[in-house]
Amino acid sequence: MNLFRESLSATDDEDKSPSTAKKKSPAPRKNRRRHKPLKVANQLSPKRRKEIEKAFERKSPSPKKWSRESGPKTHLFDRKRIKPGSIRKIDFNLLDVEIGDSWPIPITIIHGSRPGPVVTILGAVHGNELVGPLALTYLCGPNFIGPGEDIDPSMLSGTIRIIPIINLPGYRRQSRKFPDGRDLNRNFPGNRESNTTSRIANRIWESIIQTSDHIIDLHTAAPGRTNMPQIRANLAHPESNRMARSFGIETILDNEGPKGSLRRAANRSGIGCITYEGGGSNEADPESVQVAIYGVLNALRSLRMIPGYPNRPHFRILASGSVWIRSDQGGLLDILAPAGSFVDDGEVVATITDPERPGISHDVYSPSKGLLICTATHPFVTAGTPIGHLLPMKSGIRTLQKRLDEEGCLIISGSDGEPPWREDDDVEDISVEGEWSGGNPDAEWGQNEHPSPEEES
Ligand SMILES: [Zn+2]
Repeated sequence: MNLFRESLSATDDEDKSPSTAKKKSPAPRKNRRRHKPLKVANQLSPKRRKEIEKAFERKSPSPKKWSRESGPKTHLFDRKRIKPGSIRKIDFNLLDVEIGDSWPIPITIIHGSRPGPVVTILGAVHGNELVGPLALTYLCGPNFIGPGEDIDPSMLSGTIRIIPIINLPGYRRQSRKFPDGRDLNRNFPGNRESNTTSRIANRIWESIIQTSDHIIDLHTAAPGRTNMPQIRANLAHPESNRMARSFGIETILDNEGPKGSLRRAANRSGIGCITYEGGGSNEADPESVQVAIYGVLNALRSLRMIPGYPNRPHFRILASGSVWIRSDQGGLLDILAPAGSFVDDGEVVATITDPERPGISHDVYSPSKGLLICTATHPFVTAGTPIGHLLPMKSGIRTLQKRLDEEGCLIISGSDGEPPWREDDDVEDISVEGEWSGGNPDAEWGQNEHPSPEEES
């Protein structure tokens, strides 16, 4: 508590002090999230819809192991025991070796006092994607875990495993890949007798993935581009479909995931898995971090692991396809419509200039009306370089337009409002030293310019 700030902002009438500026809430949003979810722009093809319906018809065996009668049990992880209603931090070795570096990674395990599913939340499968590590670091902190907080071990049903940085060697090198140059997310389920990354994938697979009921994998776009917050999930996998919706944000891209990806491999062995994408690599996009935290808590509430009702978006875009916007020229890019923009057919989304030919510029147009879910951030382009990834939209446009900000960008559910991890004490006080010429801030205005000190605003 900062008593000084509290009293200062209560009595000080000067409107430009940093404390009062901070107190002001962001511009009011017209529509608070109190509406029923409305499905718009359901872009799934009739064929894909049938596949999904069929998958939901198949009865999934009801998991008996967390029936209420079974009572609380100790959670076993990597030969370590976690008692019901407790939190334990564990170092998990990525490599099973007696000599040399075993690459231990920290895992926080919150084991509830009531039975329930095991949910694993991962960040930095790609070591340079930092939105996941940030979101999960906050989630492991005292603002979210502890008595009376969102994740209260005594109120928790089931087990939450939080792994802020799974690819710690890549993270330390600021690299997407493992030190052997391989992409962990193309090597699942891995092989314990193969290359280094494949061995690690297999160890993660056996110890962490196969012992989970649900996985949430947090990513960002690869270098040179940035993603509007979105979920990727195979909607024909019933558990993943439910989780994708439970995250509570607007955009879901329906696909299986690349070969060897964690999501695809997990789904194939019956484990629900969704990927969150938000922001770009090597950057800490606060909106994407905030939406990630919001979504994870929503998913945990939907699974009835933590108390409270999940938030739902105004609408959902279920996309099974997209359009790429490409540059037809070479040069340097100036993006006019950032990721998250709703663009019109024929709208100029970027311009390209060539420093070797000053005075000439080329416009890049959107080929259709839709939502830009990703844009390039690296300005260098040649003819054919993708500069934007667009979900073309034919329906639901009016609903979507109601949730656009003044720049025409979608206000993602969970992004409006104050960041939940910042406390008043974390707001820095900046002091400016010196003295007022003439004795007070307005003294130098002179008598004519300023009527009297009493009328000071
Ligand atoms: Zn990634």
